[in-house]
Amino acid sequence: MKLEFKDLLIDQTRFILSDSSPAFANSLRRAMTSEVLTFAIEDVRVYDNSSALFDEMLAHRLGLIPIVTEYAGYTPRDVCSCDGAGCSQCSVTFTMSVEGPRMVASGDLISQDPVIKPVSDDIPIVKLESGQKVVIEARAILNAGNEHVKWQPTTICGYKNYPVIRIDDNCDGCGHCVEACPKGILAVVDGTVCVKDGMDTECSLCRLCEQACLNSGIGEKPAIHIDMDPKRFLFTMESCGSLPPATIIKEGLQFLKNQSDNLLETLEDL
Ligand code: SF4
Ligand code: SF4
Ligand SMILES: [Zn+2]
Repeated sequence: MKLEFKDLLIDQTRFILSDSSPAFANSLRRAMTSEVLTFAIEDVRVYDNSSALFDEMLAHRLGLIPIVTEYAGYTPRDVCSCDGAGCSQCSVTFTMSVEGPRMVASGDLISQDPVIKPVSDDIPIVKLESGQKVVIEARAILNAGNEHVKWQPTTICGYKNYPVIRIDDNCDGCGHCVEACPKGILAVVDGTVCVKDGMDTECSLCRLCEQACLNSGIGEKPAIHIDMDPKRFLFTMESCGSLPPATIIKEGLQFLKNQSDNLLETLEDL
């Protein structure tokens, strides 16, 4: 198995997984979306809420705010020595006290840990009119997306098979496929069609080029063929900001390794 990064930005990445299988590619996708731990607000104590929102709605909105996550010094609440009561090892406390008229935003949450904080200060929560107030205390804990989507670290996480584009010798360079390609990745060079340099990954596998070639009257088979490499996968992943993309991939792979180690141990014990 091999990973090759095409882009690795602060909040998104595209990478190629090769020498792999559809089962492993899908397991990695699911691990990254559902098994990687992040912080999200779980408990909210409302001291005052005269806004237009019910307490439950306010708590729901707070829970959906992505929180910058660092694992050092923290442990999931269900395995913490406090037995789930909530302590400084498994919870981060936020306080917020705002009086209208103004918009309450994520930046109004004051965290006890300056590292564990909302990914942006500008996420709107509720608009307060003059005299309205919101005073709350909230606790964020580590958990995974399989428990609730608010702990999911990715906003986009998907893959496609790596496109394989073949051109036969009977291509006459008519250019019909070039015009039909919605991604603009084909070109006619020296009387034959070819894929522009480094653009093969942009192919959406739509096969409009094959159809255009057939429509050009070339015969029963097109001169251009679109296939999928069954062992190579092109992943696109975007983080919600709680973790860097590289950490999400690493944690997803670590989860799969732990699962397979556990399975091996169980099988050895049988
Ligand atoms: S399959 Fe679609 S995107 Fe890919 S080369 Fe053909 S027309 Fe372009
Ligand atoms: S439509 Fe067919 S024959 Fe014409 S350039 Fe494309 S592949 Fe070649
Ligand atoms: Zn604890």
